[in-house]
Amino acid sequence: MKEFEAKVISVNGREVVLDRTCFFPQGGGQVGDTGFLNESRVVDTRKDESYNITHFLEKEAPFKVGEVVKGRIDWERRYKIMRLHSAAHVVYYLLIEMFGDKCKLASSGIVNEKKDITDYLTDSFERNKLAVVEGKANELIKKDGEIRTWSDGQRPNYRYWEIDGFPKMPCGGTHPKSLKEIGKIKVERGKKPGAGKERVEITLVE
Ligand SMILES: [Zn+2]
Repeated sequence: MKEFEAKVISVNGREVVLDRTCFFPQGGGQVGDTGFLNESRVVDTRKDESYNITHFLEKEAPFKVGEVVKGRIDWERRYKIMRLHSAAHVVYYLLIEMFGDKCKLASSGIVNEKKDITDYLTDSFERNKLAVVEGKANELIKKDGEIRTWSDGQRPNYRYWEIDGFPKMPCGGTHPKSLKEIGKIKVERGKKPGAGKERVEITLVE
C-alpha cells in the first residue's frame, strides 16, 4: 500500500496522528517512512510504547482534527529499504551457516534506503568467506522464492518472516513478496564495532 485516506486524530505543531496509516514507524532498526500528507512533506514517522504512530511534518501542520487527508509514502525509498531488509535476513542465514553457532546477532541492525548495517557477536569474519556468503546470497535471490510474513495470532504487532529452506524468524519490518525483487547485492565487512564484534554492510548493486 502506497496511498491512503485517513482522518486527523490530533495535531501538535509539526506532529500529526491519523486514525490509520501505511507509514511505517521507525522500529526494529528500520527507519521511519517519509512522504506526504496532502501537500505537506512528512520527514519521519515514529511510534510510542502503545503503538500510536506520529507523522513528523517538515513544517507546522495545516490540518484540523477531524479533517480527512490523503497520505502517500515515498515508495521509491521504501522499496529500497524493503529490499535491503530482506537481503539482511538472507545474509544472516548464510552467515550462521558459514560461521556456525558461535556467530550471533549483536542487535537488530539498522536499515535505511542506502544500506543495511548489522553487527554480529563473533571473533572474526574472514574476507574471502564473506565473498562466498555474498555469492550464495545472490544465487538464492536469483533462484527466487516467496517471502512470507505474517502476524502472531496472539500478538498482532509481533510478526514473522520466512523463506523456504530456513527457519522462520521474528521481524516487524517491511519486505518485498519474493527474493528476486531484492536484486543483486554487495556484502562487505564494515568498520569493527568493538571487541568480539563484526559489522556486515549490505548495499544494492542494481
Ligand atoms: Zn527484519
